[in-house]
Amino acid sequence: MNSIQRYNRHKCKIITVFWLIVILQIPIQCEQNNKSDQIGGSDLTFVEEHGNLTVSGNRIIDQNGDPIVLRGMSLFWSQWMGKYYNYNCIKWLRDDWKCTVVRAAMGIESGGYLNNPASEKAKIVTVIEACIDLGIYVIVDWHDHNAHEHQAQAIAFFQEIATDYGAYPNVIYEVFNEPEQDNWKSVLKPYLNAVVDSIRAIDPDNLIVVGTPTWSQDVDVASQNPLTQNNIAYALHFYAAYQYHKQTLRNKASTALNNGIALFVTEFGTVMNTGDGPIDTAETRLWMNFMESNQISWCNWSIADKNETSAALKPGASANGGWSASEITESGLLIRDYIIRGNTKQPNLVTKTRLIPDGFALAQNYPNPFNSSTQISFELPVSAGVNLGVYDLRGNLICTLVNKVFPAGRYQTTWETNGAIDEIAGGVYILQFLADSEIGTTQISRKLSLIK
Ligand code: MG
Repeated sequence: MNSIQRYNRHKCKIITVFWLIVILQIPIQCEQNNKSDQIGGSDLTFVEEHGNLTVSGNRIIDQNGDPIVLRGMSLFWSQWMGKYYNYNCIKWLRDDWKCTVVRAAMGIESGGYLNNPASEKAKIVTVIEACIDLGIYVIVDWHDHNAHEHQAQAIAFFQEIATDYGAYPNVIYEVFNEPEQDNWKSVLKPYLNAVVDSIRAIDPDNLIVVGTPTWSQDVDVASQNPLTQNNIAYALHFYAAYQYHKQTLRNKASTALNNGIALFVTEFGTVMNTGDGPIDTAETRLWMNFMESNQISWCNWSIADKNETSAALKPGASANGGWSASEITESGLLIRDYIIRGNTKQPNLVTKTRLIPDGFALAQNYPNPFNSSTQISFELPVSAGVNLGVYDLRGNLICTLVNKVFPAGRYQTTWETNGAIDEIAGGVYILQFLADSEIGTTQISRKLSLIK
């Protein structure tokens, strides 16, 4: 074969590969559009990946037995902000805000469910069905301060929800948003036992969150005399700028955890307990660190365009999502950032193409040096268990980006280093790729330069 023949054959190969890529890209593009931006990036939805949630000791664990932290947004009282109870809004919260959970806060008093049961329930059902379709978790919140006075209505409502949706792992019941200063043992527990038992008669397994005394702060009191049913978590609420919701409240939470109950922050604000007033970003950060280190799931209050500082949206923001930064409030931007960083700290992988590579590879990260985030790509010729760890020069593990088994393929993930949750200092780091497969163990390292 002369050089021209070799050239032509080579050119032919290039053209063939080009068309193969074009042909293969088309269906892949369509599939990605179909399941756009799924958290975790696999073909499974977040709920398909994590399944039914259960309580194990003081943690909530997923179907694989791993502790799970859900991060997302609470909608505002349904009777006053019903416009955000729609599919497009929930889809935007999943795709753009990366929420893995949304809380549907059904107002009970003040013109809510007690007055208009059918229309208020319909809003909640819309959100439940959207979350099931979109593959995220949904908290069905009986948003009431006097639920013990509405026990019959609560039982009827939750039995309907359990009957229709109890088979879906997406659903989390929250049966009493915020009791006031009622006695745990004599007032709250009898109500909670009755409602929990009525749900368990229909749905034996889905997670139930119960309110705790003093607007869901006295989790320590509840932990001294917990409910005996299975899969119960306890609501902890805080408003970071309020003087009584700081370290003393975190101490109560630590007591409760030490006593062995699981907590769920179904609602918190960055502002005062009135839902208004100045934002306390420093205290919010302390709370974030506390929740992350104790693997506590959370929802922020709230998706609303009300003119108050806890509202995540500015007045007039669209009911259907699609919000630009200028339509999001200071609190909304702060929390959106926490949600994205928290939820994409999990492997944020995208299969780039279905062409199977010839060998194991770890590309140099791009960009490098980098300032806040960098893309990392690797290739697997066969199925392999991949561990992608970042180490400092002394060999200390800084973080694990990926630890999972993947089919053969090309993958990409991102290392975010300026997360408010775990900020990484500037310097040189070693990225170590370990792939365990039937071929053996492959190890590749790269140097990453983070410049701050
Ligand atoms: Mg169930």
